[in-house]
Amino acid sequence: MRTGYDLELVHLTKRYGDTLAVRDLNHVFHPGSYVCLLGPSGCGKSSTLRMIAGHETVSEGAIVLDGQDVSTLSPAQRGTAMMFQNYALFPHLNVRDNVAFSLRMKGVDKATRHAKANELLALVQMTAYADRLPAQLSGGQQQRVALARALITQPKVLLLDEPLSALDPFLRIQMRAELKRIQRELGIIFIHVTHGQDEALALADEVVVMNNAVIEQSGPPREVWGAPRTEFVARFMGGHNVITLEGGKVALRADDVKLAETAGTPGLPATVTSVEYQGATVALSARTAAGEEVFAILPEEGFFKTPKSPGDAVTLAWDEGRLHRLQA
Ligand code: ADP
Ligand code: MG
Repeated sequence: MRTGYDLELVHLTKRYGDTLAVRDLNHVFHPGSYVCLLGPSGCGKSSTLRMIAGHETVSEGAIVLDGQDVSTLSPAQRGTAMMFQNYALFPHLNVRDNVAFSLRMKGVDKATRHAKANELLALVQMTAYADRLPAQLSGGQQQRVALARALITQPKVLLLDEPLSALDPFLRIQMRAELKRIQRELGIIFIHVTHGQDEALALADEVVVMNNAVIEQSGPPREVWGAPRTEFVARFMGGHNVITLEGGKVALRADDVKLAETAGTPGLPATVTSVEYQGATVALSARTAAGEEVFAILPEEGFFKTPKSPGDAVTLAWDEGRLHRLQA
C-alpha cells in the first residue's frame, strides 16, 4: 500500500543562541520514500529531525506535511513519530503495554489497544515476547519494541535518529534490512539519520547529504555516490579520489583508476606507496608528483600480470569521460 503524503521543508532554519544549526533547508520528501539524512557529527541532522518531529521549535521557515503547515503543532498532533536512540521504553510495563501506551493515553479501550499492539508486534516479529519486561530483552529486541511503539500512532512519517548505532555490526545489518522491509510494507516516509555512508547507500531511496547546517547534495544513492558535486560529498561518500588537474579539482572513482601498460602513455605519473591484496581486488595507492595520494581498486587478475610494489613508478590512467569536475 502506498500513501500519498509528502513532507516539505521550506526555508527551515534552527538557531540555538549564536549557533546556526540548520540554515535555510528547502527539500521535498516524496511519498513512501526511505530517506537517509547523512552527514558528519554536528552538521544539523538531529536538529532537523527534532524540528520535523516537533521536539524542537522552528526558528524560521515551515514544515508542511500533506499540505498542512505543522510547524507549530505538538508532536502528537502532527502525524509524525520518532524512534529514539535510547529506545526510552517504560521499565515497569511489559512489551505489549509499552507498544500500546500512546493509545492508552488517548483513552482507547484495552481490547482495541491490545489488538493493535499485537498487530504491530507481529510486524516487528516480537509476538513471542509480548509479556516480557524491557529488562528481559536484548538491545535489538528492545529496538523492535521501540519501533512498534512509534508506529502504533499510524504516523505519516517515521523519524529515526541513528537507530542502529547501539547495535553490534551483525545485528545492525540484520536490523537495517528489517527497517527497509517494514517501511516498504507500510509505505510511509522514513527519515533515517545516520553518519554512516554504507548504511545510507544500503537503505535509502534518497540520500540527503548535510554539511555545516546545509544540504550539500541529495538524490538517489547511485547518483550521489557516483556523481558527487562537491569535494566534501566526494570525500564523505568515499570510493573517490579528489585530484587537482589543470587548476581545478576533479573526482575520479578509485575503481576507474588504471595502471597504464607502457611508460609514456598519457596519464599521471606517480610512485606506488602501498599495495593491499583484498581477494577479488587489489587496493593500491600512489603519490603523484604534486604530492597527492591517489587510490586505485584494481581487479586482482590484471594486477598480478604485472605486479607493482611500493617505490615502483607507475602511470595512472582512466577512460575518457570518467573524471568529473567538482564545484569550487
Ligand atoms: P548532528 O545531529 O548532525 O550531529 P545536531 O543537530 O545535533 O547535529 O547539532 C547541530 C549544531 O547545533 C551543533 O553545533 C550542536 O552543538 C548544536 N546544538 C544541538 N543541539 C543544541 C542545543 N540544544 N543547544 C545548543 N546547541 C545545540
Ligand atoms: Mg545527531
